[in-house]
Amino acid sequence: MLNIVIFGAPGSGKGTQSINLIEKYKLAHISTGDVLRAEKAAETELGKLADSYMSKGQLIPDELMIDILASVFDQKTKNEGCKGVIFDGFPRTIPQGTALNEMLEERGQKISAVVSLDVPEEELIERLLNRGKLTGRNDDNYETIKARLDVYYNQTTPLKELYEKDGKLYSVEGVGSVEDIFARISALIDRVN
Ligand code: AMP
Repeated sequence: MLNIVIFGAPGSGKGTQSINLIEKYKLAHISTGDVLRAEKAAETELGKLADSYMSKGQLIPDELMIDILASVFDQKTKNEGCKGVIFDGFPRTIPQGTALNEMLEERGQKISAVVSLDVPEEELIERLLNRGKLTGRNDDNYETIKARLDVYYNQTTPLKELYEKDGKLYSVEGVGSVEDIFARISALIDRVN
């Protein structure tokens, strides 16, 4: 199985690149943000709880996220043709990273590579403000974007060290055309696959 973590700040292009990657490598896409937004749209209890964090740019508590991830993973990978998974937006904390390794190990799998999309902060903010205008996402406003970037730098970037130690971290310049960035990521994946 090809299990890729697509890593990067909000607005770094994880979702956009995931859509191309799942097509090319026949992978299941697990976007924890999409899962939570679907729960919110369906007005479930989980969705309401998640939105109370998301709308402020904060992370949903680890234990809850880890439980959700395991059930989404099992559901998305039950199809026989599934060749692996793209994890988009998970893990976002060290405990989530540890839980992901354990969950995969219990299933006889492991992370193949972590692809980190590097984008300067000014460009992240510009992209997210534009997306907010286009989609109306309630966390794509200036104040919440700032909070999300703080969360990313403080809680998520420490994961890079963990993956670097494991020899799994690959950094890719996330600036340029979608096609060029996709070609950079594909070249990397072809090396580890
Ligand atoms: P995203 O679509 O990945 O940018 O996620 C949007 C929001 O969903 C985040 O700002 C968090 O509030 C929440 N979220 C998504 N994934 C996670 C996660 N792995 N852990 C905690 N919160 C998450």
